[in-house]
Amino acid sequence: MALQILIVDDSPAMRSFIRRVMKLSGIEVEQYFEAGNGEEGLAQLAANPIDAVLTDINMPVMDGEEFVRKMRADGAHQSTPVIVISTDATTHRIQTMQELGAVGYLQKPFGPEQLRNELDRVLGVGHE
Ligand SMILES: [Mg+2]
Repeated sequence: MALQILIVDDSPAMRSFIRRVMKLSGIEVEQYFEAGNGEEGLAQLAANPIDAVLTDINMPVMDGEEFVRKMRADGAHQSTPVIVISTDATTHRIQTMQELGAVGYLQKPFGPEQLRNELDRVLGVGHE
């Protein structure tokens, strides 16, 4: 199953790192979409068939919390899997994002195996 992945992070270097790690993880991706903040992320979601979202929390304009909140409020994206990728992995922060509907959490820095495990877990499919 080739995936359409949306990466939302204000750092272009981090977005390209995530793409490289995805490639190393062996997960088959059909197409990447990218956004530099939540507002751009919502625009990408509205325009493209996204299978899963990887999002940062700390971003200018619209942060990850507001992004996921607005995304969940939109009927079309109530069940699209969201994995949070952040340096901020305090219990409180993780809990808040889970309450908003994030199903996965990766703390930066992370490697291919962790990313793959998290994607396999939230998508519930094998990517062998
Ligand atoms: Mg950031």
